[in-house]
Amino acid sequence: MERKLCSSKLDSSVPSSWSSPIKAATTAWNDVGAGFTFKWMTSAAENRIYCANDGLGVIAFCIPTRSSSGYNTRYTMYFNTYYSWSTSSDGTTGCYDVQNIATHEFGHWLTLDDLADPADSEKKRCINMRIPKKQRKELFTLTI
Ligand SMILES: [Zn+2]
Repeated sequence: MERKLCSSKLDSSVPSSWSSPIKAATTAWNDVGAGFTFKWMTSAAENRIYCANDGLGVIAFCIPTRSSSGYNTRYTMYFNTYYSWSTSSDGTTGCYDVQNIATHEFGHWLTLDDLADPADSEKKRCINMRIPKKQRKELFTLTI
């Protein structure tokens, strides 16, 4: 299968300490043979990642840009800094893990949907929506 290039850039709003865990999330997807290869760029990237305080609500989200023909052509990812975050490989109590959440959100870039109900675990093209705090690994059910 041809792998499309997914060029990405971290906005200056993203703490520098988050770079490594976010890039590790893309490496995880590259290594499992996703239909895209994530590549990091310092400029002119099609896809951007930001941190912003969006208040109580979702912890992170992606906004696709769609072409007139209905294809997602680029993504913007936001981490909600209303919540506490951790980059520790052991996790931090009360914090969401940057790498876990990034892995989940990049799954949306690959057009995978949230898997909201455990009964749906056999469905294809889904990622687990339940993301516990203070855990790394066991993050997502990948069934592509
Ligand atoms: Zn999701």
